[in-house]
Formats: sequence, structure tokens, C-alpha cells
Amino acid sequence: MNRIDLKQLIEAVADTIAAHADELTALDQAIGDGDHGLNMKRGFEAVRADADGLAAKPLPEALKAIGTKLVMTVGGASGPLFGTLFMSLGKDLPAEPGRADLIGAFGKAIDAVAARGKSQAGQKTMLDVLYAVQAALVAGEGPADIATAADAAAQSTAPMKAIRGRASFLGERSVGHVDPGARSSALIVRAVAESLEGGA
Ligand code: ADP
Ligand code: MG
Repeated sequence: MNRIDLKQLIEAVADTIAAHADELTALDQAIGDGDHGLNMKRGFEAVRADADGLAAKPLPEALKAIGTKLVMTVGGASGPLFGTLFMSLGKDLPAEPGRADLIGAFGKAIDAVAARGKSQAGQKTMLDVLYAVQAALVAGEGPADIATAADAAAQSTAPMKAIRGRASFLGERSVGHVDPGARSSALIVRAVAESLEGGA
């Protein structure tokens, strides 16, 4: 993996969340309460506001701090879940991770999110994207293919019936819509993948 420019990575993620906030809101209006765009934007703008301080930390400490900030600022069901993802990555990743480190840490982070959400694959949540990313990592795919896998996994939530989260209240009526948290997860994955690919 290329050396990570954390500030540029934070900017890239915050930019894509801001650019797609209306889309995330619309997705959450269809099967939730319509706050996902604002929730995510609030969280990642708070992370962006501290980008210099975060980028000065070693990667594990920065990831833990990002996770804590997301828990405090995103809100909703997704805040603690995204927070858990980043905090767990910070706990397990070394300062300069290689692919094997990433596979190990990402696997543990997904387990932590699943435990926190009492959820699993196929339930129409952000986890569907995270598992697809893990599979692509294990398969040895590069950043562009990992981002494509994440997008495809987000799209694949459309025909699913929601079993967890607010969308599950809709039962069958949740079918036919992309899950907002799956979409935001894919956006984050693409931003990270493109940053790493474009990096030094
Ligand atoms: P809320 O549902 O409280 O309004 P958000 O709208 O910010 O929170 O986030 C909704 C997203 O959170 C869903 O689209 C889904 O991807 C994710 N989510 C909600 N509950 C769970 C859960 N138990 N496990 C995994 N993901 C979940
Ligand atoms: Mg919502």
C-alpha cells in the first residue's frame, strides 16, 4: 500500500459525503427518516475541521480519534456503527499497514460493527458493502476494483428486504430501494480507494 496522506484522505471522504448528502437524504427518505445525508455530513465535516490535528497523529491514533468523533457527531443508528468501524480499525492496524494487516483489521472491524448492530450480511445495511470490500481485499483486488465491488454491493441492497434498522419497520416495502448506509459506505470506500491509488 502507498504511504497514506491522511489529510488528503479525510478531505476526499468529507468532499464525497458533502457532494452526495442530498442523495443519501433521498435514499433515507424512501425507507427511513431522511436524516442520513445530514448525519453523515455533520460527522465528516467535524472530522474535516480537525484534519490537521488528525493527520499529525500516527494512523492508529488518528483512526481511533475519527471513530470517537463520528460517534459524537453523526447520531442516528449509523453514528455508533461507523464510529465502531473506525475505532476498531485504529485498534488493530499498525502505523504502516500492508494488505495482510488491512485484511486482519478490517475483518475484526466488520465483526465489531456486526456485534454492535446485532446484524449480518444480507440484511440490507452498510454491512453488505463492508463484507464485499473484505472479499475484494482477500481476493487481492486493487483499489479501483475494490471501489467497484463496494458500489455493486450497495446496489445489491435494493432487492433485499431490510431486517435491521429503521428500514426494517417497512418490511416488504423496503424492497426496491438502495440502503442509505450501504450507499454512504460505498462512497467512503471509493474516496479512500481513489486517494490511495492516486497517492505517491
Ligand atoms: P437512523 O436509522 O437512526 O435514522 P441513519 O439514517 O443515519 O440512522 O442510518 C441508517 C443506516 O444505518 C441504514 O441505512 C443502515 O445501513 C445502517 N444501520 C442501521 N441499523 C443497523 C444495524 N443494526 N446494523 C447495521 N447497519 C445498520
Ligand atoms: Mg435515518
